[in-house]
Amino acid sequence: SARQVNIAIIGAGGVGKCFLSQLESLAARRQSQKLVLTYIATSKKAVYSDSYSPIALDSVVSTLSSSSQAPLALPKLVDYLAASGTKTVLVDNTSSQDIADAYPSFLRRGISIVTPNKKAFSGSYKLWQDIFAAKEEGGALLYHEASCGAGLPVISTIKDLVETGDEVTKIEGVFSGTMSFLFNSFAPTSGSGGGKWSAEVAKAKELGYTEPDPRDDLNGLDVARKLTILARYAGLEVESPTSFPVQSLIPKELESVASGDEFLARLPEFDAQMEEVKAEAQKEGKVVRFVGSIDVASKQVKVGLEKFDLSHPIAALKGSDNIISFYTKRYGSNPLIIQGAGAGGDVTAMGVTSDLLKVLAQL
Ligand code: NAD
Repeated sequence: SARQVNIAIIGAGGVGKCFLSQLESLAARRQSQKLVLTYIATSKKAVYSDSYSPIALDSVVSTLSSSSQAPLALPKLVDYLAASGTKTVLVDNTSSQDIADAYPSFLRRGISIVTPNKKAFSGSYKLWQDIFAAKEEGGALLYHEASCGAGLPVISTIKDLVETGDEVTKIEGVFSGTMSFLFNSFAPTSGSGGGKWSAEVAKAKELGYTEPDPRDDLNGLDVARKLTILARYAGLEVESPTSFPVQSLIPKELESVASGDEFLARLPEFDAQMEEVKAEAQKEGKVVRFVGSIDVASKQVKVGLEKFDLSHPIAALKGSDNIISFYTKRYGSNPLIIQGAGAGGDVTAMGVTSDLLKVLAQL
């Protein structure tokens, strides 16, 4: 009979719900292993039992919403999962720092982890080291493809490059779907058609491309987190996502306004600044884009506005796509380029599900 693997899930939001539907179809197709959901929680509710009875995947969302069980505290959850005596994979579909901080305790007990959560890998360098030490100690597996570029194969690519002995010299790209959308509309390569900066931000918010408070995209921190992860795989001991220059697009005066709505209402006062940046690029026959780059030799990581020739792949990006270029010794002057949707529930969940498949193949 097929061996059993237990699955525990935290988070059932945009990505989590898409993952659940991909897991349901994966579990139905999987012959070599019996996948059993034994725990699922959001920040408010949970479903689990002391006997680890299977939670039906076809009705899990409604079971969860009608549950009166509270989530287990993290140390309790570690004990609960480790005590099952069955191989277990934890899927963290949250953006919680607390859960990320607990990864070492799960891994040390042999519980494998797959996640789109950036926090564990872009936090302090100490947490990064603790996580990989705990993984070795517990003989657990750990994949986080969707923590950079959603479903795009970015993490697996940098790992493959490094582990096969190539030398990564530079990584450059557009790492935020929101920033991509904003600049592709604000400064199109056609030269005309871009609206006022504040209007583009308002439009992006209306279309659901930004966080509820657009400042959470415009501060550049999300991009800085992804750069931190890639720089560490490229061999740089980056201390934290705030230990290198990150340009924030939030005007100083609006950093402390109370709400996202007030921010949007006052943003037009600062349109002239962004208009100037755009005009300056235009004078050189270029367009402005919000990019992140890692120069490995000089150990420089930075995030911010840069100008690109109209023929550059970064300038020609469409919609809310991401693009990541890897310059390496083997690839020479023509970089290995990965491009496509870098956000969205289904593509992000695909990154998580394919990580789960990699874990399952090794259990
Ligand atoms: P979301 O806000 O829609 O859902 C988050 C879920 O996690 C909710 O169910 C919430 O209840 C739960 N949660 C949060 N903190 C928790 C805690 N401490 N304990 C238990 N449950 C908790 O978020 P999302 O869009 O689904 O994103 C999930 C993860 O995927 C995030 O780390 C995000 O950065 C990452 N990601 C998302 C996208 C995307 O396009 N949405 C792309 C790439 C990566």
